[in-house]
Amino acid sequence: MNYHNFEIALQEVPGEISLCFSISGCPLRCEGCHSPFLWNAKSGTPLTVEGCNKILNKYKGFATCVLFMGGEWHEKELIQLLKIAKKNNYKTCLYTGEEHISKVLIKELTWLKTGSWNPKLGGLNSATTNQKFIEIKTQKLLNHLFIKN
Ligand code: SF4
Repeated sequence: MNYHNFEIALQEVPGEISLCFSISGCPLRCEGCHSPFLWNAKSGTPLTVEGCNKILNKYKGFATCVLFMGGEWHEKELIQLLKIAKKNNYKTCLYTGEEHISKVLIKELTWLKTGSWNPKLGGLNSATTNQKFIEIKTQKLLNHLFIKN
């Protein structure tokens, strides 16, 4: 499983400082995709357990959440990394373009964002969006946290 880039994300998970990994090989090919460089599974660098652990340790006490932008197409590896994140007391989040993901993957998440990118409907900060940001434990839809008054 390769990742194209890693960054600290402040807005993708409300109230959290997230360690955000963008995973290569997105199969969805949404029209108007903002990150077509993620389509090629071979681009980027392998995200190994060692590499991930190193980053998680580095930001311990500062960051609060580990966020994956995609990667559900590498389910086994993604679950392994989510378990490591939880073991290190991080909350977890997955942004997927799919409508549904497997139960085994959901089990490892604190939050889940579903839905493909549709430029006509907009993202999570749009009232017309097709995307959903859900707190797994309560099944609450939290899209309102992204909409500015
Ligand atoms: S899910 Fe995201 S990365 Fe994948 S094609 Fe759609 S917009 Fe691009």
